Amino acid sequence: MRQASVYLPTVFHIEPRITIVHKVTGISRRILSYTYFQLHGRSASGGAMKKSTVAITRNVTAFKETILFTICYQTAESLINDDEAQKVIVAFDAFKKLTPDSKLDFSGAWVVADDFRNKKITLIRCTKCQAAVLLNARLDPVHHCMYCKTPYKQHAALYSSR
Ligand SMILES: [Zn+2]
Repeated sequence: MRQASVYLPTVFHIEPRITIVHKVTGISRRILSYTYFQLHGRSASGGAMKKSTVAITRNVTAFKETILFTICYQTAESLINDDEAQKVIVAFDAFKKLTPDSKLDFSGAWVVADDFRNKKITLIRCTKCQAAVLLNARLDPVHHCMYCKTPYKQHAALYSSR
């Protein structure tokens, strides 16, 4: 089990849901809820967590934010030699510094990072304009580069290397 003291200050600072912290640290939900309440003076947000990236990227703004977060996560993955949770935290911190007004929250970022790690979504460079293209992150079977509109088949992600 990870030491709670390592996680709590950072994790609670960005307000993820109790579920995630519980999963990562193994600390009981009751204690986590209590600690959260002590720190913030209110209860942690409840509700069901989003289960896949596709559920998060329903509109274009959310999709762009997801691409940006994925880039942050990919960078964190290559730079940090720590456990997965720490990578998500660092990536989310960087993401929030870049886009303070973004709607993607920590639990959404957690789901995106999970999908990326499990290769359910893939980040490639557009062959024409070099922009970042996130494949398999939306329901449409064909994805167009956000900038130059070059089409990419979503399932191409299965064959591309990362
Ligand atoms: Zn392009």
